[in-house]
Amino acid sequence: MIRIARGDEGTDFAKHARKQRAAAMLAWARNKPPEPDYRLVARTLYERQWFKCAWCERACGFENQPVEHFRPKGGAHDGSVADRKVTRRDPDHYWWLAWTWSNLLFSCTRCNGQATKGNWFPIAPGSKRVPAPPRELMRALPPACLDLASERPLLIDPAADNPMDHLVWQPENPSASWEALKWRPYGHDPQGRGTTTIKILGLEGDHARDVSLEINATITTTALSIVEALEQNDGPRVHRDLDTIEKYFAETRLFLAAKHDAWTWFTDQPALAPLGAMSRAPIARPGAASDTTRAEPDVSPPSEFDSLSNELVLRILAGDFANTDEVLLAFASEKVRDVSVIQRLTERSLSSLQAADTRLLAVLALFEDHDSIARADVARVTGRSGNELTEYLALATAARVLVFQSSAKSLTPTGGSKDRYCRGDRP
Ligand SMILES: [Zn+2]
Repeated sequence: MIRIARGDEGTDFAKHARKQRAAAMLAWARNKPPEPDYRLVARTLYERQWFKCAWCERACGFENQPVEHFRPKGGAHDGSVADRKVTRRDPDHYWWLAWTWSNLLFSCTRCNGQATKGNWFPIAPGSKRVPAPPRELMRALPPACLDLASERPLLIDPAADNPMDHLVWQPENPSASWEALKWRPYGHDPQGRGTTTIKILGLEGDHARDVSLEINATITTTALSIVEALEQNDGPRVHRDLDTIEKYFAETRLFLAAKHDAWTWFTDQPALAPLGAMSRAPIARPGAASDTTRAEPDVSPPSEFDSLSNELVLRILAGDFANTDEVLLAFASEKVRDVSVIQRLTERSLSSLQAADTRLLAVLALFEDHDSIARADVARVTGRSGNELTEYLALATAARVLVFQSSAKSLTPTGGSKDRYCRGDRP
């Protein structure tokens, strides 16, 4: 695992992040699972990570691979990672970071799956998990939920930490012949983040076997060739082999950290000691030097939303409207009828809002002119039918009561005919 640099989040990110977080906050308050859409960022992350999984450094295709959340979005598990025994579940963590740029990575399905990382996100003893937001309609998240510096995760963050500072690949049988070496990862500290990360991601076992095969096919084979060339005093061949080694560290190649650790191990062996006297620069440690730390884009609602209810603010930000009529009716129920104001706040087209306003006025006129109105009349002035018409009538009724509160009569469907709506008893 190497350090990755996500870099800039891209121009459209803030707008989409605001929309996605508002949708998640609405879903949370409504007790529904959020349905985030990551298509916008998946490609960017994939390219910035050199088309590889952030965890295992395997080259994975783009299609059907997940956008990975460093802090899981659907519940966080703590416990004994070595035997995968969960001792603490925090089911409400960390949905509100589902669209936070610094929490997103591109990964393969193996590393993202329940058998590996899944919901695991243990934190250091003595460290406290940040609280989940309350399950209510909020227009902004409580600051405590975003105070992530107060948590000390045991999982390495490949964008914030350098994984190579925490774990190293070494032969588990160092006295074996070079061709027979089996490589596996070790944490620098047996209780520390490297060891925990190895266990969470299952980097031993099958993965270590694949890494060993790759090291043997590339680094080991070339190292043996260099030994032979040194014995034969064949300087040009040594340089050619060293050129080959360098090619194994191109950014798109897999398992760079493990290969670098292996190459470092080989060059420490007496057989390759003569390389130290050659005027060749050592292979640089792979991975990004650092990721650019920057503030997350501001996703809080603009101040001009201050007079609106939390629900309407979230619906506007999330674009939670089936059509323009629903926009207008939602504003009407908060006594906002000025279409130019609504246009500014929602970025809907003025002409569609004006058309919706005309429809609403026509429906309200029907209510004003008649004790009861026919669905057919409402269908005529709104162009709606079936369930859409029923929903429109329900919304228009609610909006009318609020907009014209001083003169409003309560409007209820008539008992006699399901097809007609009429005024209720006059006060
Ligand atoms: Zn992976």
